[in-house]
Amino acid sequence: MSAYRKETICIQSGWKPKSGEPRVLPIYQSTTFKYEDSEQMGRLFDLEEAGYFYSRLQNPTNDCVAAKICELEGGVAAMLTSSGQAANYYAIFNICEAGDHVVMSSTVYGGSFNLITCTMKKMGISCTVVDPDAPAKELEKAFQDNTKCVFAETIANPALVVLDIEKFAALAHAHQVPLIVDNTFATPINCNPFQWGADIVTHSTTKYMDGHAMAVGGCIVDSGNFDWTAYADKFPGLCTPDESYHGIVYTEKFGKAAYITKATSQLMRDLGSIQSPQNAFLLNVGLETLPLRMERHCYNAQKCAEFLEGHEKVAWVNYPGLPGNKYYEIAKKYMPNGTCGVISFGLKGGREAAAKMMDRLKLAAIVTHVADARTSVLHPASHTHRQMNDEQLKEAGVAPEMVRLSVGIEHIDDIIEDLSQALASCEEA
Ligand SMILES: *Cc1c(COP(=O)(O)O)cnc(C)c1O
Repeated sequence: MSAYRKETICIQSGWKPKSGEPRVLPIYQSTTFKYEDSEQMGRLFDLEEAGYFYSRLQNPTNDCVAAKICELEGGVAAMLTSSGQAANYYAIFNICEAGDHVVMSSTVYGGSFNLITCTMKKMGISCTVVDPDAPAKELEKAFQDNTKCVFAETIANPALVVLDIEKFAALAHAHQVPLIVDNTFATPINCNPFQWGADIVTHSTTKYMDGHAMAVGGCIVDSGNFDWTAYADKFPGLCTPDESYHGIVYTEKFGKAAYITKATSQLMRDLGSIQSPQNAFLLNVGLETLPLRMERHCYNAQKCAEFLEGHEKVAWVNYPGLPGNKYYEIAKKYMPNGTCGVISFGLKGGREAAAKMMDRLKLAAIVTHVADARTSVLHPASHTHRQMNDEQLKEAGVAPEMVRLSVGIEHIDDIIEDLSQALASCEEA
């Protein structure tokens, strides 16, 4: 762990210029890297020596930003990916292959749900979907001999279910597999899943980390805590020779960095979902102000949630910061400084009233995005979760009348005035 606090890590970590070098992280806009010695280049290809040779595998700009996120999460190694989708795909596929099985929380983001239950199914990886609030005894039943990981979100998008990380970590470890958690909504500012037993963390950096809706990106961080070699028969990809790299064994050669090194040298090499260095640069700028923005997002969201809760036309409000919320206590345990800036609510007038209200908002825009500086709204049932049937919607915690409000960092009075005028002009039922 770093000696610095998160606010300082966000500014100072990653790029560490030597005397005379640029103060600000440079964009290494280069696909390739030059060498004088052909032998040295050969050693790089054999993973005998660390260094850059082709940006599909590694790029210095990306590595600096990954190192910053790694430090924020308290991990040992990290990599950037082109999107959050790519991060979750690689995080799972790095340890699962055809014939393997994943235990997944039902409330994960719609994109992850499709990825794992549809696309990865076609690759021969099966999945059991579980209710994250079910008691451990019930969840036990989802595990099989071929289970290789558990996947969930710290704060589910958009259901805002807060994960009992310790419960899930204990379950995963009892079955000799790692817990992978998508920490996109909480960010490492509000929650560090590794402290509670998670083994691998993923992010859609597209959201709060970038924070300005400028660049799609993702990240995977490894805690280094999961002992792959203790269950070597379950994880042959990490613990037996890789023929595509002259028989190296990742756990033997790279120790705690084995998981990320394998993801880079196999998955990035073969599937190529690299983040562009331009986007990594923008992400780094976003990270510098992440603690300030998260504080404001949470403050504004709390005020909006309280306003909506007291409004006569609002049927229900879901925000873990409200004392009556099902996840209030658990959120206080895992995220004592706040959760995120996303709220969901339903109007008494149902689905139709929701659509009308959204059309009347002036400041909050209808966009397929959450978690950036601008206040925005979305109707999950007809937008992000459109592919799901009613049963799947219910399992994912998405009601047909639910409006997802991503509270930005504008002045709180302006946001509430906008909500107020839009609600005033829609009928009761
Ligand atoms: C947006 C999101 C993703 C997907 O990320 P992209 O960057 O859009 O590919 C994954 N998980 C969560 C929780 C998200 O909110």
